Parts: sequence; structure tokens; C-alpha cells
Amino acid sequence: MSDVVNPARLKLALLRSGVALDSADGEKDAAAPNTVDILLPGDMWVTAKVAQSSPLTLVRSPGVSAIRHQGGETAVRIASFGSAASRVVTMRSTWATVMLSGGCGQSAAGRTCAFCRGRELTEHAGEVWPIESVVAAVRAAFDQGDAELVHLVLGYFPGDDAGLHVLRPYLEAIHRHFDTMVALTMHPPADLRMVDLTYAEGVDVICYNLEAAGAESMRRHFPGRARYLGRKRYLSALARAAQIFPGGAVWSDLLLDISPRAEIDAAVAELVAAGVLPTFGVLDPEGGADAPALDDSVAIAAAAFHAASHAGIGLGWMRDVSSTFTPFDARYLVSGAPQSQSLLHQLSRNRLGALTTRSLARMRRRLRVRRVRASFDSSHL
Ligand code: SF4
Repeated sequence: MSDVVNPARLKLALLRSGVALDSADGEKDAAAPNTVDILLPGDMWVTAKVAQSSPLTLVRSPGVSAIRHQGGETAVRIASFGSAASRVVTMRSTWATVMLSGGCGQSAAGRTCAFCRGRELTEHAGEVWPIESVVAAVRAAFDQGDAELVHLVLGYFPGDDAGLHVLRPYLEAIHRHFDTMVALTMHPPADLRMVDLTYAEGVDVICYNLEAAGAESMRRHFPGRARYLGRKRYLSALARAAQIFPGGAVWSDLLLDISPRAEIDAAVAELVAAGVLPTFGVLDPEGGADAPALDDSVAIAAAAFHAASHAGIGLGWMRDVSSTFTPFDARYLVSGAPQSQSLLHQLSRNRLGALTTRSLARMRRRLRVRRVRASFDSSHL
């Protein structure tokens, strides 16, 4: 086993290149999984896409797992080896993740809808699971003791509310049955009042994922998104959300392998200036030539950590995020990084800490929502 490996560098490397399965595993598991959920040193989770071309190999033997890399091997823990908790819920570290209508985005759902690719909406996007099935599957995930938070990932729905009308009964049911936090990844709404309503309905963390850092890379990789949504709709919804949601609870994912470095740096500055935290994913781990150099990705992530700290945006909500790289993960890339955020995380891990965090979030919502509801009632919505 190599002695010291920086968990943040290893997470970035695994997100960038994916992970190869050791030959024994590769052969044995004909239906090799698409992804593996791995707990790295430093309590850092990563959902690595399986890519046999990756220079990083997952080695498993009874009771021991490790990532083999240039510097040797690093002991890790495997949470899930591709097997979803159920058809409805996929565990991503401690996040019970539910895709509705196929979900949205590369990091959260591993896909992009036909709409964003500028294609005919002919393909079946994905299941809109019955509410009772979602409640039952989430209950099973909590009963197994794996889940600590629910993450809803909503696919494409036409209309200015981007499908919030579909989501509301799920939010109502989840909050009726569980004392939990809810994160949501979805298409940005055209009607900004829907952002307020999203918070009012019980969403704690919201992600409208730009993915393409600049207008040019959006046109190239997501022609439908560029034509029908455009950056402006994302930035308006994100800026509005940053005024409504708690600090640090509004995120937008940028893909490191589809935009030039300058576009990514500019987008990071733009998002942080609006009170939004950028996260970093990858479109295609087997992208070869397009993959940015690891040191470039490290520099981008460290810069995001500095920008967020400088802007005073809390990183407290970014717990156990596995499918993308966060400014909180970047604390390991910054020497002398303040430990206050890690301390907050440790506090919110224990029962009392988690309960307090949820109660404070509820109280804050009650105080803010009274105003939001009044404005909606007055406009008969
Ligand atoms: S933004 Fe909308 S259309 Fe594009 S991938 Fe997400 S849900 Fe699908």
C-alpha cells in the first residue's frame, strides 16, 4: 500500500478517467457495473464510471479493496458495486437518489436528454415512478442505514415550471414520511417564481447544471440547450435561487472535458459572484485526448475553493457528494485550508448535529415561506 495519497487528487483522477476493474473482477462479472461507489481516505466519496482504459484499477480481494495507481495502491471501501438499492433508488454514498423521467445531466444521471442534444423527443426518457414506490424504496434505503439524504433528479418536462408541478406531490410525500434533507437536480424554470416555490415546497439544495462553462461549448455539446434554454436562463434561475436558498445550497455542475480552461475559470467566477457553488464533473472518462490534465483540474478546483471561501459561501451542505467534485472536496488541495468547514461536517454527522441542522433548515424555511406563499396566494397561483 502506498503511504500517502491526496484523496482529492485521487477523486478527481477517478472522475476524470473512470476506474478499470481488475482482470479477475472484469472476467468474473460479465455484467460489469457502469459505476462503482468508493469511499476514499479522508471520508471522501466518489462514484467512478467503469472504464477499462483507465490508468486506475480497482483491486478487490476478500475483505480488502484498493485503487492501484502510479504511486502504488490506496486502500478504499466499496459501498456499491453497481448494484442499485432498488429499481427506484440508487445509493450514491449516503444519498438515496431517485431519477424521475430519466433524470438530468452527466454527473447526476449519466445522461443528457434528447431536448438538450437538439434531437426529436422520440425516445422514452425514463420512468416517472409512482409516489408510493418512491416512498417504499426510500424507506428501505433509510432502514438499511445507508441513506442520510434524498436526492431527486428530474428529467425533461415542458413548461415554464420545468416540471415542478410533477415534483410537488413527491416532495409532500417525502416530507410527510421522512425527517430528511432533500436535494434536487433539474432543468432551470423559465418562471423565476418557481424557484421560490421549489424552496417553499421543501427542497434544501438545488442544482441547475450548466455543464458547459461557456456559450460556445454549450452550442457545441448541447445544441438544444443552447437554442431553447441558453446560459441566461440558467444564470437567472441560479441567481434567484441564491437569493432564496441558504448560502452554499445552490450548485451548478461544470464539465471539465468540454470547455477550454479560460471558459471554466470565467464561469467559476461568474457563478461564485452570484452566490452559486460550482461543482466539477466529466462528460466522458474515456474521452482520451479531450481530458484536461489532472494538474489543470486540480488548479481549477482549488481556485473554486478559494473563490467560495473569499465570497463567504458556506460549504456545509456539500456532504458526501460522490458523483461530482466539490469545493468542499478541494479543501485537501489547499494547504492551510481552514478546518471550520470540516468541523461543521463532523458535527452534522452525529444524530444530534443532523437533527439540529434539519430543524434549523425547517425553521428558516417557515420564516421565508410565509412571505413566498403570501405573494403566490395574492397572484392566485
Ligand atoms: S436540462 Fe432539461 S432537457 Fe437538458 S438534460 Fe436536464 S432535464 Fe434534460
